[in-house]
Amino acid sequence: MATPTSTQDLLKMENIPNKGRGLIATQDLKAGQIILTESPLLLYSASPLFTPTPSPYCHHCFRTLQPSQTFTCPSCSNYNFCSQKCLSIALNSSHSPWTCETLSHLQNPTSPLLEKPFELQVQARFIVAAYNIAIHTPSIIQTILSLHGDPNDHDSIVDNAKFLQSLISPFCPPNMNFSAELAAKLIAKERLNSFCLMEPYSPKGPQRSIKAYVIYHKATFFNHDCIPNACRFDYVENGEPGDEHNTDIVIRLIKDVDVGNEICISYFRINKDYLTRKRILMEDYGFTCACDRCKIEANWNEGENKSDLPHVIFLSKFVCDKENCAGTLAPLPPKDGEKSNVLECNFCGNLKVDSSA
Ligand SMILES: [Zn+2]
Ligand SMILES: [Zn+2]
Ligand SMILES: [Zn+2]
Ligand SMILES: [Zn+2]
Repeated sequence: MATPTSTQDLLKMENIPNKGRGLIATQDLKAGQIILTESPLLLYSASPLFTPTPSPYCHHCFRTLQPSQTFTCPSCSNYNFCSQKCLSIALNSSHSPWTCETLSHLQNPTSPLLEKPFELQVQARFIVAAYNIAIHTPSIIQTILSLHGDPNDHDSIVDNAKFLQSLISPFCPPNMNFSAELAAKLIAKERLNSFCLMEPYSPKGPQRSIKAYVIYHKATFFNHDCIPNACRFDYVENGEPGDEHNTDIVIRLIKDVDVGNEICISYFRINKDYLTRKRILMEDYGFTCACDRCKIEANWNEGENKSDLPHVIFLSKFVCDKENCAGTLAPLPPKDGEKSNVLECNFCGNLKVDSSA
């Protein structure tokens, strides 16, 4: 889809009381407006190193592979790509000779990772991807290290970093200062700043799962709200094979936002109940949400009539009702200054006329 060339000046970063950094509208903005389009700093597969079946996605752009058009890494034969173009780009970037060799060692049948939990196997992928970026584009690692997240945020970070570093260090180029301390810092950043690229929507399930993790520089500064005024889109499956913008994130407004107001997204599906949201936000992000919806739902009484509460009306309008979806709907971008009355789902892509607009 067409994206405006510059959305940069629509947002500015500010310190928000009790929240840390957040993004504020610098002008009045309209529902449907694209406020940010951004390419990944770092992108890596969510597939564990040891799985019975190979990933069905291109290992570079994460489009679904077509069996008749699959291009395999000539060195390791372990990784598949959707096109000659993706393979060529990957061999010079995300699947460089260093990455190919290091992953081959980590994935051989005697690897200590074989018996380890999937989560640690995916963390190994992340460290390899981050080190590969550090070797090729050191400035990106400095940017990632400037994001929020600290090794002391979670008990497992330092231990996991030491273990992974011990496996990867034999392959680290001697001139790079890769260490367990650096690995721990990177894992801490990854925990708090990753977005998920989801497997494509399917009406019959399975449960939606994640095909890749992505870190974006600016989008990571959107704070969470359980009634967000913006949501994210991606168009990985719609792009041309090997198009460098396939994995861009697009943030679009659900509602009008006045100048000076904060723009927030939800860090998960917006239809989750209060206790589930509370648990995820504490366990995964380390905070308690104090949004208007949480304040009301914390004190709900059973049997109360809730149908006229603002957030109940919001959910009935902006949660996609297609089977097994529950994505978030946002209006299409305004045309010639006119707001669109067509809502698009950010998960299944369904379009629906907003009869109340
Ligand atoms: Zn591809
Ligand atoms: Zn390879
Ligand atoms: Zn909340
Ligand atoms: Zn949907």
